[in-house]
This record gives sequence, C-alpha cells and structure tokens, in this order.
Amino acid sequence: MSKKIAIIGAGPGGYVAAIRAAQMGAEVTLVEKSNVGGTCLNHGCIPSKVLKRTADLLEEMKKAGEFGIENCQTPRCNMGSLLQRKEKVISAQAGGILSLLKKHGVNYITGSAYIPEANRLEVTATDGSITSHLWDKLILATGSRPATIPSLPFDGQTILSSDDALDLETIPESLTIVGAGVIGCEFAFIWNSLGSKVTLVEALDRPLPLPSVDEGCSKLISREMKKSKINLQVNRTVQSATKEGEKLSLSFGPSPFAAKLTEKDLQITTGQTDILIVCIGRKANSDGLGLENIGIETDGAGWVKADAMLRTSAKDVYAIGDLLGPTKVMLAHVASTEGEIAVENCFGAEKSMQYEQIPGAIFTSPEIGTIGLSEKEAREKYDNVRADSVLFRTSGKAQVLGEIAGQAKIVSDADTGKILGVHIAGPHATDLLGEAALAMHMGAGVGDIAKTIHAHPTLAEVLLETSFKALDMPLHG
Ligand code: FAD
Repeated sequence: MSKKIAIIGAGPGGYVAAIRAAQMGAEVTLVEKSNVGGTCLNHGCIPSKVLKRTADLLEEMKKAGEFGIENCQTPRCNMGSLLQRKEKVISAQAGGILSLLKKHGVNYITGSAYIPEANRLEVTATDGSITSHLWDKLILATGSRPATIPSLPFDGQTILSSDDALDLETIPESLTIVGAGVIGCEFAFIWNSLGSKVTLVEALDRPLPLPSVDEGCSKLISREMKKSKINLQVNRTVQSATKEGEKLSLSFGPSPFAAKLTEKDLQITTGQTDILIVCIGRKANSDGLGLENIGIETDGAGWVKADAMLRTSAKDVYAIGDLLGPTKVMLAHVASTEGEIAVENCFGAEKSMQYEQIPGAIFTSPEIGTIGLSEKEAREKYDNVRADSVLFRTSGKAQVLGEIAGQAKIVSDADTGKILGVHIAGPHATDLLGEAALAMHMGAGVGDIAKTIHAHPTLAEVLLETSFKALDMPLHG
C-alpha cells in the first residue's frame, strides 16, 4: 500500500515536496488556502523581479545615448501596464505548477488546513464546506507573512507591507522604506528607478546587515545608493507616522539597536512621505493550524522547531521553508531543498539539511550574489584566511555592458586554497553565483577555478581573475 503524504502550503517548499513525493510513489494531498506558488510567486521573488526588470530597463534607456541610441531621454513607467505584465508572469508560472501537480497525480485542494488529531487533516473550503483527509506523514510548509511594528500598523493605503507595495497602482512622489534588509534594499532601488524620491531607514549600521553579506558589499550598496540619490539613513528608526491630509508626517530618531551612535544619528528629525513601506521581517504562519493538538512545538515567536532532518516534535510530522524562521534560511530555494529532504526522510532516508553553502541572490543595483562565509566570519573561524578581490571595471564584458560598478571576492583558506566564501557585487552577480555554488559543493579550491577555461568575453572571467589573484598569479593586475 502506498504512503499517504499530506502537505500544507503550496509555496516553493510545499509544491516541490509534493512533486518529489509523488515521483517517489506516495499518494499526495497538497492543501493551499490562497494561490499556488506561495509568497515566492505571488508576493515575493517573482513579482519583485518583474518590477526590477522594468526598473532596470528604465535605467538602461536613460543611458541609451551613451550606446548611440537617440530619442530615449524621457522614458516613463506606466504602472497599469507593469502590473498587467506582473499578473501575466505570475499566471504563466502558476499554470505551469498546476499542470506539473496534475501530471504527477497530486491531489491539489484549495482551502485552509487544520490538524484536529494525529494522522488527519481538515480542510475548510471558501464555501465553508469541510473535508477530512488521512495522512501517514505530514509536511508543514505554511511559510510566513510580513511582520508589522505596533507603532506603524499596515493600513493598505499609506503604510504598506511588502505585499501591498507590489500592487501599488501609481508611482508615489515620495516613498520611505523602514528596514534596509534584502527586501528593503531591493525596493529602494526599484522605486528610485521608477521615479519616486526614496528614503531608506535602517536601525543597524549598514544596509544588508546580515552576517552572510560581506561588509564590502554593504559599502558598495551604500555608495551606489548615494550615487542614485537614495536617502539612506543608518542607525536610525522611524519613530512615528501621522496622517496629514494625503501625506504622512514622519519623525526619525536614533536606533535603540545601534552599537555606536554619532551626533548626527542622535538628532530627532521630521519629514513627509506619500507612502511608507515597512519591511522589518516576517512572522510565522503557524497560528490556527492546530499544532498544539498533536504536540508540535514552536519557539516563543511561533516558528516551528525542527531538527536537521526537518522532523518536528510530533511523530511523522516534518516542517520546511520559511515556517522554520530566521534561525534557518528564509529563501525560496532553501524551502524547496528542505522539501526534497523531508520527502526522502518520509521514505526512511536519514538526510540532514546543510545550511553552510546556501547561495543568496540580492537584486539591488548592482546585484549581489553571496555564498559561504563572509571575510569576517572566515577570519573568526580559520587561522589563515585570505580574501582576494577583482573589480568589474577590469572586465572587458563589464565595459561592453557599461556596468562597471562592483567586485568579486573569493575568501579562501590560505593553507589549502579551499574556497570558504564567494561574494560578488556587480552585473549579473546572481547568475554568476552558479559557478561558485558548484565549486563549493564539490569542495573545490581556488586552483580548480583557475584551471577551468572561462569563455571570453564573459563576466565569469572576473571569478577566473580573482582565483589567479588568490594564487598570487594575477594576469591583469
Ligand atoms: P510560502 O511561499 O510563504 O508558502 C506558504 C503557503 O502556505 C502560502 O501559499 C500560504 O497561503 C499557505 N498556507 C498558510 N497557511 C495555510 C493553511 N492553514 N492551509 C493551507 N495553506 C496555508 N527568496 C528567494 O530565494 N529569492 C528572492 O529573490 C526572494 N525575493 C523575495 C521578495 C519579497 C518581496 C519577499 C516577501 C520574499 C522574497 N523571497 C525570496 C523569500 C521567499 O519568497 C520565501 O522564502 C519563500 O516563499 C518561502 O517558501 P515557503 O514554501 O516556505 O512558504
């Protein structure tokens, strides 16, 4: 008799798990209360990159004169057309996922899932009807939603979540973003290119203040923001927002989270904005699921606890994706990989999820691609570390593209040459990450990249030159 596997949530974690489980011979039920594809497809990775694509095109058109193209001086974005394109892309992707689920015989059910007892799910459809579904193994993949600050509650009009921001129908004259994490920084560049005057407020001392993001990348992003006239305020918070007519009046002050404050940071200042977007993190979608009915433990913030094999505290129940919270890694490809591992473990494997070599793609301008240890992390962990960088301006391809800002950095063990981390900030950095990810997965050293013939002229040659430098044999420097 085949195993019955039920999965709650059809984001990149849940739908990938469903396909894998079906391929391995399970009878699969996948329950989704909203749209297939989850946050990633509907309010995250894909829609934000549709907006980014338009923002990039606008920037390129503004520079078209340099490339010998005339009559492109005043390009403008029509938000209506952009939103239509966004919906078209989402719908094409959703259709693709639904047909894959069908092809693999997954029983896809729309409705809200609840766990009343072990081995059974209840699903409430939008018409209120309830169906019951039995399971031998259960995978929780219910993801997360935008977190709010009590003093700046979302109203869907002027104080927006990242979800709302992706549906803005007009380009605000002024826009303030709270939080310079990945989403905040991506939005800052996008809306700046679309034509808003952007202020970005960060409580810590740098944009992208994540341990995995090399400090050099944060510096570059600060510099590029300054060049683009994005008003970045670090060590600061938005202390209050009051509606005044059509606008919001804001007061800015020192951050209680900053390690060191300057005189300037300590000042209380005021300003006005049309729109405030709050991007300060995410909240677990673990409430109302009935986790307590079968003893699934969560931490104080509601994130589900799971071990490296993705097992929760309840027998036969696994958890994957954003639902595991920020102590793991909240990215779409991580959710999918965890989904594959959880399914294999449902079938008796004993696989653990490895979090050391996860690529991170940040779609700022320029892009950032990061994997492995940052230089700082590596120096804390290893005795003899070297960090070698090569600027994109030295690359023929970068010059051809007219995108010369940024650098590639390889962090390696100076004794063995083993690659410990790769941090790229520059054109197509997120695509260049593939080579670094494969190299690290294979346990490669800088010598392996140096011995690999790279095509010319390509941006990947920057990694080649960086590896030459890490061997003290630079060709062009
Ligand atoms: P989700 O995608 O959140 O899916 C969970 C699903 O579960 C949802 O569809 C929800 O409706 C459903 N659900 C919840 N409760 C129930 C219930 N009781 N019954 C039935 N269904 C339920 N990541 C990247 O890797 N790259 C990016 O470029 C990137 N960009 C992003 C940009 C933005 C603006 C945001 C917000 C996020 C971005 N992310 C990105 C993060 C990425 O979207 C998430 O890490 C990913 O979606 C997590 O996948 P998941 O399957 O765990 O959860």
